[in-house]
Amino acid sequence: MTSADLPLPAALLDLLARARRVVAFSGAGMSAESGVPTFRDAQTGLWARYSPEELATPEAFAADPKLVQDWYAWRMELTARARPNAGHVALAELATRVEVVVVTQNVDGLHAAAGSTDIIELHGRLRWVRTGDRTPVEAPMLGDDGLRRCPESGRLVRPDVVWFGEPLPQGALERAFREARACDLLLAIGTSGLVHPAASVPVAALEAGRSVIEINPDRTPLSDHVTGRLAGQSAQILPGLCAQIGTSCL
Ligand code: NAD
Repeated sequence: MTSADLPLPAALLDLLARARRVVAFSGAGMSAESGVPTFRDAQTGLWARYSPEELATPEAFAADPKLVQDWYAWRMELTARARPNAGHVALAELATRVEVVVVTQNVDGLHAAAGSTDIIELHGRLRWVRTGDRTPVEAPMLGDDGLRRCPESGRLVRPDVVWFGEPLPQGALERAFREARACDLLLAIGTSGLVHPAASVPVAALEAGRSVIEINPDRTPLSDHVTGRLAGQSAQILPGLCAQIGTSCL
């Protein structure tokens, strides 16, 4: 889809053209077209019988560390192969013309790989860290028991992500809310709006009277409240949409 065939009403086009300060709030759908499955997509193969809520918790790790480590090793392998899609690239390019803060729930690092620099990672990053003090572990050793451990300390490793039931990094969350309340335009991209507190970030923008545009093939709890909604895949919609942003200051 090009900017010319984006079905945007005139009022929305005007709002995009005048935007100078943009928050791109992204969820797993943002990376779907890079081949990274979302949580709501059916889990595939080996993992079909588990729900992420059963695996991405401290309780699951304590009960069965091998199961949780194996699931994350599979996800790390998938994301290591993934490349930023046209949506990630469009947001990175947009930052050369207007102010863009990326607030992401994604843990795949694809916004940074596309060249975005101001990124708030609310849920951490997929990489191994030592349990206890969260020191990064580049290459965990795999023991005879199938468990991955830090080669120096022998401690189990865990992924550096926020699990269900764990607090989000406080400074990151506070800045995300601040940026959402202060922007001209928030793009809510590929997120189901079900995982809190992150899901409250676009709500804070709406409550502060900011414009919010949702990009998602499916409706979400946010859909009835947004300024505009573009139903479709973000890698197809974002290049055309971003081309319209900030054009009145060119
Ligand atoms: P989610 O899985 O709950 O929802 C994904 C949303 O994306 C859905 O609403 C779906 O309709 C939409 N979607 C699917 N394909 C799309 C596309 N091509 N373009 C636009 N939208 C599309 O994801 P969430 O809201 O991010 O929340 C769940 C949690 O999942 C987050 O905490 C996140 O950390 C984690 N997660 C991250 C990744 C990743 O880093 N890529 C992958 C899976 C899960």
